[in-house]
Order: sequence, then C-alpha cells, then structure tokens
Amino acid sequence: MKEKMKLEQWKDWKWQRKNLIKDVDSVEKMLGVKFEEEEKESIRKTIEKFPMAITPYYLSLIDPLNYKEDPVFKQAFPNPEELSISSCDMKDPLSEDTDSPVTGITHRYPDRVLFHVSNVCAMYCRHCTRKRKVGDTDNIPSREELEKGIEYIKEHPEVRDVLLSGGDPLMLSDEYLDWILSQVSSIPHVEVIRIGSRIPVVLPYRITDALIEVFKKYENLWLNTHFNHPNEITDTAKKSLKKLSLAGIPLGNQSVLLRDVNDCPRIQKKLVQKLVQNRVRPYYLYQCDLSEGLEHFRTSVGKGIEIMESLRGHTSGFSVPTYVIDAPGGGGKIPVMPNYLISWSANKVILRNYEGVITTYKVPDNHTSNSCDLECKECNLQLDIDNAEEYKAVGVYKLLTDYEEEITLTPENLERRERSENGYGEIG
Ligand SMILES: *Cc1c(COP(=O)(O)O)cnc(C)c1O
Repeated sequence: MKEKMKLEQWKDWKWQRKNLIKDVDSVEKMLGVKFEEEEKESIRKTIEKFPMAITPYYLSLIDPLNYKEDPVFKQAFPNPEELSISSCDMKDPLSEDTDSPVTGITHRYPDRVLFHVSNVCAMYCRHCTRKRKVGDTDNIPSREELEKGIEYIKEHPEVRDVLLSGGDPLMLSDEYLDWILSQVSSIPHVEVIRIGSRIPVVLPYRITDALIEVFKKYENLWLNTHFNHPNEITDTAKKSLKKLSLAGIPLGNQSVLLRDVNDCPRIQKKLVQKLVQNRVRPYYLYQCDLSEGLEHFRTSVGKGIEIMESLRGHTSGFSVPTYVIDAPGGGGKIPVMPNYLISWSANKVILRNYEGVITTYKVPDNHTSNSCDLECKECNLQLDIDNAEEYKAVGVYKLLTDYEEEITLTPENLERRERSENGYGEIG
C-alpha cells in the first residue's frame, strides 16, 4: 500500500517539482555517492553563480556506479569549469535581447518570431544557452506582459509562425497555456504554432491526459523537444512521446553537440534512430553556443561535420538532423555540412556520395531558364501564389533573382566603400 502511494507520488509531476534537487548533499544521498570536501566546496561555488535544479526523475537516470562519466549527470550536475570564462564567451551570444522589439519577442527572421512565455524550467541544463537568466527570474510573465507580445504578433501580418519558448512553456498551467494558445491561434495570419520544450526528457510525467486535451484543440501545433543522448529515451519518456504523437502533434528534436556527452558518431546514430522509432524527427543538431560557462562543453566544428558525414546516407534520410551554428550576434542558424558538390562546369556538376563514389550529373543542354519578373499571369508555369505582388526577395536569394537590381550584398561600414565615397568612385 505504501509502495503504491510512493509510485503514484513519483509519477506526479507536481511532486517531482516540489522535490527538485538543489544541493550537493541531496545528490550524494540520492545517488549514494560521496564527493571530496574540496570538490564539494568548488561545486557549491559554482551553484552560487549558476544554480542547480534536477528533477528526481532525471537524476534517477544516472548510473551511480559510473556517475562521473554519465551523460545525464554531465547535463544536470554543476561542473566547476563553468566558472572559467573564455575570451570568446558572451552573455547573450544570440543577441536575443537586442533583437527584441517588445519584451518576450525575438523577431529575427522574416516570417516567424520567438515568444518567451515562461522563465521557469523543469530543471536547469548545465549547457543552457540562456544561462545568464537561469534562476534569477523564476517567475511567470503576467498576462499583461504576454498581451504585449500577442499585440506585436497581431500588428505584424508577416508573422505566420510563432515559437513558444522560455524557460519551458510546459511549466505553465494547462489553463494558462490554453489561454496563450487560443490567443495566438486566433490571430488570422498565424499559420503555425510551435512549442520548444525539454519536458519529455526531464519531466515526462507533465504530459498528462489533461494537457493532451488542451493540445488537441490546436490543429496547427507542433512540438520540438531536446533529447541529447539515447539514455534519455526511457520507457517513461516514450510513453509521453506516444501520447503526443497519438494526439496528432508532429514531433521534432533539437539536440546540442556536447563534449564527452554526445560528440560521438555512434551515440548520435543511436539517438536519431531511437527518436524516429518514437515518431520524433531529428530537426537540428546545434553547435554549442558561446554563452558564458559553456567552454568545457564545446567541441570543434569538425566533430559536428564528422557526425553528419557518419549519418547522411548511412541511415534513413529522415533521421538526419541539420547541423547548425547559431551565429553569434544574432545572424540566426547557419547550416554546416560536408561538401557533396565537388566541382562544376557549364553543363555538368561533379558530385560525391557518402561512399566516396564520384559521379557526374549533366545539366540539360536546352535549359534556358525562364527569367522571372514576377508576372505570374504570363508565365508558362502558371504559378499563382498568394500576394505575389508583395513577394520580396531578401538576403543571398535576392542576388539570385532576375527582378532585383542588386548584384552585391555589402556590409555597412565597409572600409573599402567608405574610402570610395571619399572620392574614389563607386564600388559595390
Ligand atoms: C531558431 C529560431 C527560430 C526558428 O528557426 P527555424 O529555422 O524556423 O526553426 C526563430 N526565431 C529565432 C530567434 C530563433 O532562434
């Protein structure tokens, strides 16, 4: 009877939250391990700067016999190396705060925004890119604050995709989440809503039937989660993923490449294969950001490319994530991959496949590309896109179009150009 009570408690996400593990002594007790006194002191110092919080569930995944090498331990337990600041570390490497037109909104790409709806996380990941914010504002933004974000989206008809992020949006109550989802989905130009959440990994019991009922009301809802290692895909995590997928929610996964946690082609292959087995599509593999205190987690970019080389062609195409570097300074995600295009001429491209076979693809001789002036009515492709008149090319794509005049993209304050403007004629 008592055992049954305990199990019920364990599976109650609110109990898990109330019993978060926040100090070294509790970790010792729960794992049955002992740290050296000196070690404990440096861990305590680390916690003073970057707090610790681990759900009992996530802690239970650690192998106590080999905890120092355990991938879950490394993602959850403070490492004194977090205190060593590297010369390239930045407080807000992705410029999320500077790219924010109103509190809570980051508007970086033309048609989508990031909407920070919660400052609370189920647990604190040691590799958090928003480490600067962890713990110091563990509160939930008020309705009034969120209403300003919602107002911003309403006033920007170009926003067709809203990413709810945080913190973890699933730390909000069902009712509050329902309110946010209903507000955002009632905006006519919002076509897609996505939730980014680590809950299925660190607190899967939060995926309750009641929450699923809320989600089912929103037919344009997607969810991206954050599994980094195959050990995290437990039976409990699988159950929560199954609930989500049966509710019709397309699931994706964004993982971070972490030194000595998952920077191994074999671990990554196992991870993506287990994900797709549970109907989760690997979406992004992130190069670790330049946030303060993450230096010891960072790998070379070559390691990431090696992992991509080991996946593409070797396993199902839909198991292969896109490896990206989130550009410091707010440039957004930049895909990085091995080179498959080896060379080209006027009528041929030379490619290589995953096996190293080099092959040629011949371009059609008679292919005269139809120059596009956006006059779709006259085009033999009979393309009729919504708002075709407003179609505006930006970025590198702009250089490819026939209807834009630009032939170069030039950074502002280019010294070469400033010289030319001082009397040496025009340069691009
Ligand atoms: C990642 C991100 C997005 C979404 O990018 P996708 O490539 O569409 O997934 C949007 N806004 C910001 C600020 C982001 O960091």
